[in-house]
Amino acid sequence: MLHADRLTIVQNAAMKRVRSEAPALCPCGLAASYAQCCGRWHAGHVAPDAEKLMRSRYVAYVMNLEDYVLATWHASTRPAAGFVENANEKPATPKFTGLTVLAHTRTGVDTAIVEFIARYKSGGRAYRLHEISRFVHEQGRWWYNDGEVRDH
Ligand SMILES: [Zn+2]
Repeated sequence: MLHADRLTIVQNAAMKRVRSEAPALCPCGLAASYAQCCGRWHAGHVAPDAEKLMRSRYVAYVMNLEDYVLATWHASTRPAAGFVENANEKPATPKFTGLTVLAHTRTGVDTAIVEFIARYKSGGRAYRLHEISRFVHEQGRWWYNDGEVRDH
């Protein structure tokens, strides 16, 4: 009996170890590791479409990569540096917990919109952010321009 219990404990510990060593899925929700998904765009490769750019920007918020958030923001609407860090200093900082892309639509030769729901927790409560983001294609790459939050 004692032996069996010990064996169970050892097996559980081994399973935990395997689980923590497995490559984690990308926070953007696609079935790929971070390195093979948004990590490529964070590392400097150009995201091929507005949806991939949007996903990588969401992950940059999750990972507090403000440089990437700013570097993919169109110069005409880009905020000053420090806004992600300033936001994270607030006590009720939202913690993003998941992303669902509802639609990715090309609205013109150089424009696209991505509609998504980002789930987050703040102060122990769960919320959903429903946004339609607008992107523009310039200088051979996509840029985030602005977004419109949906209330429902
Ligand atoms: Zn990803």
